[in-house]
Amino acid sequence: MARAFLLLGTNQGDLYRNIEAAMKELQNSGVAIKKRSRICKTKPWGKKDQPDFLNVVLEVETGCEPLELLSVIKSIEMAIGRKPDPVRWGPRVIDIDILFFEDRVIETKELTVPHGEFLNRPFAIRLLTEIAPALRYPGTRRYVSEYLEL
Ligand code: AMP
Repeated sequence: MARAFLLLGTNQGDLYRNIEAAMKELQNSGVAIKKRSRICKTKPWGKKDQPDFLNVVLEVETGCEPLELLSVIKSIEMAIGRKPDPVRWGPRVIDIDILFFEDRVIETKELTVPHGEFLNRPFAIRLLTEIAPALRYPGTRRYVSEYLEL
């Protein structure tokens, strides 16, 4: 089994229900949720003229390889009602990002891990360090908490 960290975000419809639905679908797909951060409200990032988001970070355990996990995630996003081609950084019913997958560094066309925007999003660093304070940033010896801005 592999340990991964996911970031969920939503800013359309019933936000709590979307988060709940995504967590349920993950569990139903064999992605076990081991820990969950606070659910926190954040300002939109990139494209600012849209509603605030609710975000949560999950520690999960999965038997999937990274690309399989990505495919599970994409199916869940579709099942919960996300349109196939959302505006980049635009409003969304549910967005699920793979932040880390074990301590692997992956750079392919479909998948970048650690997630390419992770270090640009202080709330994501904060929520992740809340549930995994001793985690190190993949490919480095640095603790993730060292990237936190206080
Ligand atoms: P997004 O708009 O955040 O849902 O990203 C859309 C695309 O980003 C997906 O179709 C993935 O192929 C790609 N992607 C690259 N790296 C990641 C990652 N770490 N987690 C999720 N999606 C990723």
